[in-house]
Amino acid sequence: AAARTDSHAATIDTLLDREQERFLRLHPRSAQDWEAGKQHFLYGGPSHWMRRWAGGFPVYAAEAKGAHIRDVDGNDYVDFALGDTGGMCGHAPEAVTRAAVRQLQNGTTMMLPTEDSLWVGAELTRRFGMPYWTLTTSATDANRGAIRIARMITGRPKVLVFSGCYHGGVEEAHVEIRDGRVGLRNMIHPNGVDHSTVSRVVEFNDVAALEQALSAGDVACVLTEPLMTNFGMIPVADGFHEALREITRRTGTVLIIDETHTISSGPGGYTSQHGLEPDILVAGKAIAGGIPAGVFGVSQEIAERLWAIVPMVNPRVRQSAHLGIGGTLAGNALTVATMRAVLEEVLTPANFERMIANATRLADGARGIIEARKLPWHVTQIGARAEIMFMPKPPRNGADVIAGRRGDLETLLHAYYMNEGILVTPFHTMFLMCPATTAAQVDRHTEVFGRFVDLLADAGV
Ligand code: PMP
Repeated sequence: AAARTDSHAATIDTLLDREQERFLRLHPRSAQDWEAGKQHFLYGGPSHWMRRWAGGFPVYAAEAKGAHIRDVDGNDYVDFALGDTGGMCGHAPEAVTRAAVRQLQNGTTMMLPTEDSLWVGAELTRRFGMPYWTLTTSATDANRGAIRIARMITGRPKVLVFSGCYHGGVEEAHVEIRDGRVGLRNMIHPNGVDHSTVSRVVEFNDVAALEQALSAGDVACVLTEPLMTNFGMIPVADGFHEALREITRRTGTVLIIDETHTISSGPGGYTSQHGLEPDILVAGKAIAGGIPAGVFGVSQEIAERLWAIVPMVNPRVRQSAHLGIGGTLAGNALTVATMRAVLEEVLTPANFERMIANATRLADGARGIIEARKLPWHVTQIGARAEIMFMPKPPRNGADVIAGRRGDLETLLHAYYMNEGILVTPFHTMFLMCPATTAAQVDRHTEVFGRFVDLLADAGV
């Protein structure tokens, strides 16, 4: 078996070489741009994330509309990456563009609230249930704010996360279980911080480990997605949410639910669909249609505990106490105007219905191929988001992903997709639908995925 695995690895390597050569031939101008980019950007592109594409370098985008992107070499893509969720409203959605242009002409950032914010606050409460909201410039920043508040009101230092999580550039969440202890997350480089002093980490769906980790009473909050989306998709086990809520309540631990990705579930995210009761709810990315934004909402109880420490401002008193969170551009007029457009006209129940139907179509198409060929792979779906994983069944936790994940096949598939005009996020094989995604675009994926499977079969993998 070992010899067979070695020969498979060599074959997959050869296939990837071939796809990367084809990629280079199809993208001469992007290749040139990438060389030029490396002269002035630390990691080639304006963000270091942009260097991670499987073709060997990123394509430079020329224009994007709906679920469609054209690159500078004139190649077209059906875009299922949608900016790793930031573009979930589709590219250049008309309602957002209209609101943005109007607000650009009326001032973008004044450190003053606009009346659009009144509508946005009420709508966030109607959708997600939390009574009080704060806007931030990113989901990362919303998580940082939520963590800081949890620490302020509990006086406890630690943050508990589940192994395999990702919550943005949040130091406390850059951890996973390594040899049974707190270690640095998959591929994150050490930085001199001893993460065991600020973080605790247990496996997802493990009630006993959670109970044990919170029993010491030094954990300010649990930060989690409703189900895990950033290490492939890890479904939540029956009863886990009930246990999580009961244990966090009993131990006085703040429960933060991060809906940044799982907002794909529907208009109020997974939380409203499944009646979860977080103390703090976080969202971001798509929430302002691609204009940088994050939000967090707190429960009545959290708000009252916070107001007891940091009261509403009395301008006669030069208060020293502030929250120590947020940014100058948070809640600016442009973000608020576009968020209103998204909530009013783009991420509507009717659009979600269409997006979810297309995700189901994609998942069914991929499953059909996997089952017909008896491949040891599976497909999961959470509303408008589907994922192909090269493992026989859904993982129960991060350890299952580490043990079973096929990074080599993922990279090969992603390079193949790009050469065939399909874009998926570089980090895993996720497909996101936007309101403009069509059934024909989904069927194009099914056809390309079928040919990829043929390619592997022909190569004897
Ligand atoms: N929360 C989750 C669940 C995420 O997946 C991410 C980013 N992938 C973030 C938060 C952070 O979002 P941003 O990078 O836009 O701040």
